[in-house]
Amino acid sequence: MLEFWIWAAVIALGLAAATAVWRLTARRSRRGPGKNPRGPAERRPGSSLGLGRLLSRFRGVDEEYMREMERTLLGADLGPAMTSRILDRVREAAPRSPDELRNLVGRELAGALSGQERGLRLSGSPATVVLVGVNGSGKTTTAAKLAARLTGEGRRCLLAAADTFRAAAGDQLRTWGGRLGVEVVTGAAGGDPASVAYDALAAGRARGAEAVLVDTAGRLHESRNLMQELAKIVRVLERDGQPVSEVLLVIDAATGRNGLAQARIFTEQAGVTGIVLTKMDGTAKGGTVVAVEHDLGIPVKFIGVGEGPQDLLPFDGPSFAEGLLQ
Ligand code: GDP
Repeated sequence: MLEFWIWAAVIALGLAAATAVWRLTARRSRRGPGKNPRGPAERRPGSSLGLGRLLSRFRGVDEEYMREMERTLLGADLGPAMTSRILDRVREAAPRSPDELRNLVGRELAGALSGQERGLRLSGSPATVVLVGVNGSGKTTTAAKLAARLTGEGRRCLLAAADTFRAAAGDQLRTWGGRLGVEVVTGAAGGDPASVAYDALAAGRARGAEAVLVDTAGRLHESRNLMQELAKIVRVLERDGQPVSEVLLVIDAATGRNGLAQARIFTEQAGVTGIVLTKMDGTAKGGTVVAVEHDLGIPVKFIGVGEGPQDLLPFDGPSFAEGLLQ
């Protein structure tokens, strides 16, 4: 008799488990494969029918909230790998309410953005700061904003227009220089950008400047020749044995996940030491920088929040994390 009841219990448990798995599978197939616009290579994180998912379904907050959070993080350009990493950790804590889920994710994001040295490093006399990035990301504007910040702190600086490809770039920087009362060193159109950088360094030394801010030509990060030219600018600035203080990669917040690829390539070629995330006054969240910090260890140092000279703010991890969840 006892045996009968044991067998009955085993069969009942088996049926319950099979029904749960069948229901989830049916729900997934109703959603259909075409619903993932990113395709199989970028399958949504956590979309497999893993044990963690089943457990979180029964133990904690409903899986629907998890999926909504996943959409929020992906929509903020965190990328599938980082989104997965964060949600996997949060699942382990089995949040019991949407608020708890949000707090845990916020904590994970803030944790991922902690422990970095974010101050602008200025070493050497003068210190050299090179701005790099793709066209239109905001390099020239950021160079001007940095000049405004430094002169506001009573530090003498110089701007170098090492974008000799685009005639308008030199004019743009000269206009900024006139507005800010900062000297701008320019070269002949089409000339060697590295020699403009070197001339600016010599001028900076002669004037006793604390910093030389070098604006470079916008380039496609896939273009090998242009990237090599950038490496040459850095080499020339370091010719006298003084390392470049900062190579700041300027990334437009609206760049999306491509920001990580940009950071990888610019780092290989020019040894990026910090990120400036521009256009944070728009709707883009710029979440790609979480992966840049995590994967490459490069800190975000400033955010751009407008087109004016004062619209450059020090990056603040906790408030950025908060912004990603809004
Ligand atoms: P570059 O080609 O990388 O040198 O980019 P620019 O500095 O010329 O900037 C391209 C455009 O973006 C210009 O119209 C800038 O005024 C604008 N821009 C740069 N930074 C910001 C920012 O933080 N917020 C906004 N709204 N616009 C910006």
